[in-house]
Amino acid sequence: MIKFNEHLENIEIYEAGKPIELVVRDFGLNPKDVIKMASNENPFGMSPLVSQAIATNSSKGYLYPDDSMFQLKQDLAKRFNVNEKELIIGSGSDQVLEFIARAKLNTNSVVLMNKITFAMYGIYAKQTGASIIKTDSINHDLSQFLNLYIEHKPDIIYICTPNNPTGDAIHRDDLYKFLDQIDDKTLVVVDGAYMEYAKYINPNFAIEPKNIIDKYPNVIYLGTFSKAYGLGGMRIGYGIAKKEIIRPLLKVRPPFNIGSLSMLSAIEALKDEEFVNKSIMVNFIEMTRYENFLREIGWSYIKSATNFITISLPDGYNSATISDKLLKVGIIVRDLKGYGLNAIRITIGKKEENSRLFATIREFL
Ligand SMILES: *Cc1c(COP(=O)(O)O)cnc(C)c1O
Repeated sequence: MIKFNEHLENIEIYEAGKPIELVVRDFGLNPKDVIKMASNENPFGMSPLVSQAIATNSSKGYLYPDDSMFQLKQDLAKRFNVNEKELIIGSGSDQVLEFIARAKLNTNSVVLMNKITFAMYGIYAKQTGASIIKTDSINHDLSQFLNLYIEHKPDIIYICTPNNPTGDAIHRDDLYKFLDQIDDKTLVVVDGAYMEYAKYINPNFAIEPKNIIDKYPNVIYLGTFSKAYGLGGMRIGYGIAKKEIIRPLLKVRPPFNIGSLSMLSAIEALKDEEFVNKSIMVNFIEMTRYENFLREIGWSYIKSATNFITISLPDGYNSATISDKLLKVGIIVRDLKGYGLNAIRITIGKKEENSRLFATIREFL
């Protein structure tokens, strides 16, 4: 028998949101009758500028991409008012999380995160053999974080705002007060995968990467093109931090980690703010419909600053059963059983998709 790293035994293989193809295969549905509300993609797709650029440049796939990522770094640096040396680009911000774990953690390390949060923080940390400390509240409770920080002196603290899979966000002043109390040897990862949504719905949730890294040189801010920008399939995310943090991360980055068409997509997506703003605006109009619908049927939910809503199911309803029943009619949602919650997470879709979901849930009542 071949023996692999022992600490891998404590890792469950991550199960991502189900793809449309799988539902089509398993239930014999027509692809156009399947709606995916499980992975927080933008239901409006991507900017037409992106599709055009991909079509025009499709024959360039035989060349390796520009590994310096000159143009994308320049555009991102301009967007966030930071230096190119303060940026790292990953195949999704997921890959930046992986770089951080590989560059910083080992079997003696400790990391701190919220009880319910993005699963990949824990998975990448466990791959290195690090131990994990978690708070015991569903939403981020920074006073608990502080107590656990004092007790365990973790190497990394993960803060996800807004948090996935709950949707709650942290007030900027509260986060800054928390960071004031963390020493400069502890790396704090601030994951802003849904920040575009949060800052639209409440400006107090806005974390500006430049402000946070200038004030706190031990922070790395993460962003992604997968959610509001609609590029989930292109796999591009970024980290913004002082160059003392970025440089070691660049040492674990494989060459050509971003495909040329993906890089081009991100460059084009940044040119179309109107598309992103419109998507976000419609998202929150639809969010209000979800809130009204849920109040009407008496199901409780967590107030969300993102493009998804997390619904706790009342007694007598099981999240696995509800998700399966929805799946059979072609509506893919995320069952949160794996997080220890009897809840489902639903990505806010287009108006007609949401109406279909409401009608289907009414039939279950
Ligand atoms: C979606 C998501 C990411 C990263 O997604 P990528 O597609 O890898 O960029 C990171 N953090 C959170 C909380 C997310 O929900």
